[in-house]
Amino acid sequence: MSNAKPKVAFYWCASCGGCEESIVDLAEDILKVVAAVDIVFWPVALDFKKKDVEAMPDGSIAVSFINGAIRLSEQEEMVKMLRRKSGLVVAHGSCAHMGGIPGLGNFWNKETIFRRAYHTTPSTDNPDKVVPLEKTVYDGKELTLPSFFDTVYSLDQVIDVDYYLPGCAPPRDLILNAVTAILEGKLPPKGSVLSPNKSECDTCDRNKTKPEKLSIKEIKRTWEIILDPEKCFLAQGVICMGPATRDGCGHRCINGNMPCRGCFGPTDQVYDQGAKFLSALASILDTNDEKEMDRIVQSIVDPAGTFYRFSLPKSLLGRKRMETIK
Ligand code: SF4
Ligand code: SF4
Repeated sequence: MSNAKPKVAFYWCASCGGCEESIVDLAEDILKVVAAVDIVFWPVALDFKKKDVEAMPDGSIAVSFINGAIRLSEQEEMVKMLRRKSGLVVAHGSCAHMGGIPGLGNFWNKETIFRRAYHTTPSTDNPDKVVPLEKTVYDGKELTLPSFFDTVYSLDQVIDVDYYLPGCAPPRDLILNAVTAILEGKLPPKGSVLSPNKSECDTCDRNKTKPEKLSIKEIKRTWEIILDPEKCFLAQGVICMGPATRDGCGHRCINGNMPCRGCFGPTDQVYDQGAKFLSALASILDTNDEKEMDRIVQSIVDPAGTFYRFSLPKSLLGRKRMETIK
């Protein structure tokens, strides 16, 4: 039997880099991880090339941690290759798990996104209306770029995923627990989200400040009031995604006196996080009057972007196009 250390790969797709930081943030614990495994691919930190992975036998990487959503043909190609080469694939972070913030691009299409990004932002100076092309000939040489998909996908919409590490970014303890469980072969059933299957509200200290019957007449944004550091945000009329969000982050935002934005996604019992929150919100709006209800709902700025901030590609809405920017 070989005493070789298990091979581990890290890769990033459409993401901000925060999930890569979450690995670095393991601080001294990263040394324990490095001692226990053989990191064979980590483009953000180590100088391995695509051809190094191509040369590995299929199934020879024990586990690949892949963060980010899938937006480009290059990302699709890389994750399909890592899937072939890996025994396990872990979707690392909200964007790989559910599409995340890049997934909000699914409210638009490629054309409107390019028009905004390359033509109409206030800081853009682009009189020739140039946009990136997949093939460009410059100085007699052909240059190529990956294709930009019209739709953003979560990782499991492109390849088979074994486990999900939720969060934007996943906290240190969850990552360490996952690595330990993998090394010790003590993993839960395939498809599990590696975080407790409870809601944020279930373990939130502010839950006890909720009145028996929670009812609100106004929705306020965080900067419109002085936030009580002890009281439930919903009881203060501030949107908190806690009722529709999985536990396990250690209440990072709430402890900083900011409401939960939902980055851990829903619990196992819920398919659509945004719809779950909408249903929770509807049950606490204190009016039966249609006009009054309309006024309260209208006061929510960007409801779709708020309720589906991290989960649009994996939601029932999935793909909603607004063809024109007004
Ligand atoms: S709604 Fe937010 S603040 Fe209120 S109990 Fe739930 S997680 Fe805590
Ligand atoms: S409080 Fe909510 S948004 Fe903040 S880290 Fe936890 S799950 Fe994510």
